[in-house]
Amino acid sequence: MTDAPSEAMERLVGVARDPRAYVGRWRAEHPGGAVLAILPMNFPRELAHAAGALPVIVQDDQEPITEGRALLAEFYCGYTRNLADQVATGRFDLYDAVFTADHCIQLIGATEIARTLKPDTTVFLGMLNSSMNDSWAPAKVTETMAEIRAEIERFTGNPVEQGALRQSIEAYNRDRRLIRQLLDARSAGEASLSPVELQDIIVSSMVMDPVEHHALLFEALAGIHRTERDDRVRVHLSGHLCHAPRRELLEVIEDSGAIVVDDDLYHGRRYLSTDVEEEGDPIAALAGWYARRNVTIPCPTRVQQDADWDTYLLEAVRHSGAEAVIHLMPKFCEPHMLYYPELRKALDAAEVPQLQLETEHEGMPLESFRTRIEALVERALRRRPVHV
Ligand code: SF4
Repeated sequence: MTDAPSEAMERLVGVARDPRAYVGRWRAEHPGGAVLAILPMNFPRELAHAAGALPVIVQDDQEPITEGRALLAEFYCGYTRNLADQVATGRFDLYDAVFTADHCIQLIGATEIARTLKPDTTVFLGMLNSSMNDSWAPAKVTETMAEIRAEIERFTGNPVEQGALRQSIEAYNRDRRLIRQLLDARSAGEASLSPVELQDIIVSSMVMDPVEHHALLFEALAGIHRTERDDRVRVHLSGHLCHAPRRELLEVIEDSGAIVVDDDLYHGRRYLSTDVEEEGDPIAALAGWYARRNVTIPCPTRVQQDADWDTYLLEAVRHSGAEAVIHLMPKFCEPHMLYYPELRKALDAAEVPQLQLETEHEGMPLESFRTRIEALVERALRRRPVHV
């Protein structure tokens, strides 16, 4: 935490750590308003917001997985088993419907658990196509965006007016831009927020109304002072495409002599990478946003010849001056596992020290991770020029 957390910052942290309480407050203030469970990675929350709903990106909720184990096989990632557990134990009853727009097969498995166990709940899967170079791709994405809009209108009973949608787009853009400024300041060496604090800010933005979040964050930032670059080993965190790395893991990384300067995590740059065009037809703008997201930070669940994650990663490392990369790979995350050899080869060729940590929902060997991170820090330090 910062040495002087403001009340505004404490409220953001409170929302991030207890989304349930925020949803309760929002419901009290918006009688009859729908709260939608949104699953990663690319759902256009703007459409739901414009219909007067609260679109909440569902977090890996840190509770131990009990019934979820019997519903999804052990080789599903921890996040999806946790989602199944939330559904089976009633923790998902917080939401009125489930909306998702992606196609990782494990995520679809978790969505199907919600459909099976909650037959009276609307569960909508808007399959955004993953093949990005095909000539028909832009039209198909626009068509899917229109389907999502129609489904949201049907579910909420509210039309998504063009004007309201434009306002929602502007609100989310404004909030994204403000958080991105923090990430840019961190890359430039003016890190004044720890990775845990940044994660809390981003998680709260995934839960809250964007107008409210922006106002609170703006207030919180007034009490935060920038700090000068220090000589800890600068590290880029890569991976975790869907859910947040555990806070204790982020703390171990910075306790081991590293400082996180950049990332491509979902709860980081990946989520905030791209704004929606504010001019022209808003549905076409959302379709364009989906396509451009995969250029700004390529995702291993998409196929696109002119965008790849390893090229992006090398450029990000060069830009931030990161001295090492830590791959945070959720156990059994197939898209990440399939792409990882390419990342490893590219970094090896560029002689960037790297470390892969396989993460799980629970039972992570933090002390063993600490030893391995310290060894990475040592390797990076030895590469620094010696001044005599
Ligand atoms: S992309 Fe990886 S972390 Fe996300 S749901 Fe799929 S397997 Fe799990």
